[in-house]
Amino acid sequence: MLTVPEEIVGAIRSGERFTILSHKDPDGDSLGCSVALFRSLSQMGKRVYLPLPEDFPRKYEFMRKYINGFPNSRTGEGDIIVVDCSCEERINWLDVECNGRKVISIDHHEDNPNFGDLNWVEPESPAAGDMIFHLLRQLGAPIDEKTASALYVAIMTDTGRFSFSNATPQSFFDAGELVKLGANPRFLTGEVYFNFSEDYLRNIGIALFNAHNYHNGRILFLTLDRATTQSFSTSPENSEGIIDFAMSVRGVDVAALFKEIAPNKIRVSLRSRRGIDISEVAKFFGGGGHPNAAGCTINANLTTAQEAVLEQIRKVLGYR
Ligand code: 5GP
Ligand code: MN
Repeated sequence: MLTVPEEIVGAIRSGERFTILSHKDPDGDSLGCSVALFRSLSQMGKRVYLPLPEDFPRKYEFMRKYINGFPNSRTGEGDIIVVDCSCEERINWLDVECNGRKVISIDHHEDNPNFGDLNWVEPESPAAGDMIFHLLRQLGAPIDEKTASALYVAIMTDTGRFSFSNATPQSFFDAGELVKLGANPRFLTGEVYFNFSEDYLRNIGIALFNAHNYHNGRILFLTLDRATTQSFSTSPENSEGIIDFAMSVRGVDVAALFKEIAPNKIRVSLRSRRGIDISEVAKFFGGGGHPNAAGCTINANLTTAQEAVLEQIRKVLGYR
């Protein structure tokens, strides 16, 4: 059971104006939390500003509509609530300036250094969405069907459809409560997971066709390079989830997806089985994340980046 710190509840209860921010490369958890918080605080009569990222993924478009009907203007200003963001460098500021405003950070990343003025960090929480759900209930804030749906999406996506090791009794319990409040699992799963574009389908094909294994299949690399992908798009959306295919291959303990987002700029997604802390590799390259799901960006060509990452993975796996 999550306990919401009194000072967090107090700051949000007493504040009248808020700005909601999250991390770069928006995902289901960051968007679900932002949208849910925006709706619920607005319904409480607070003035809230939620700047929308330009790269709002198409599969979450239905959630963008959940903020319609409420005033969303810069007059929101006030304290800044940052959700699901592991560090200051990952904040997606958009058109917002901090200007010394109070920053309230609500997050579930283990490596969060408590960068806010007020911090609630819960590494045991499967998704930031669970934390926002508990916060809203603690506040006695309205949680209608759309708010419940946004929170359900947050938990569903961060737990890999309730299949990762972070799918705890808490996540199932919260999801059940959200369904009671009106979230429709069939509809939401359909929107998020069965909504491929043809470009995405081609990217899956190319990434999987180019799979390359090391150490008798214990490590599997997938690659999306700009030259071979006709349909290439640098948006995170066009490669999200592809790495999960690599982890579904028998015998794979560590998987990496290398995505050439610009010449000599490689986005790396890393995944590992339980017991292998792959965030060590991400941190080595200036990134971060969770023990079994992490990422980083490497400024080098593909071959150099892959060799460097392989070397670090080998260290984590104990190969000499
Ligand atoms: P993904 O592979 O899905 O992009 O990211 C997996 C996890 O690693 C996410 O929880 C994300 O927050 C974290 N992550 C990805 N890239 C970075 C990065 O560049 N820096 C940090 N600190 N975390 C990252
Ligand atoms: Mn998250």
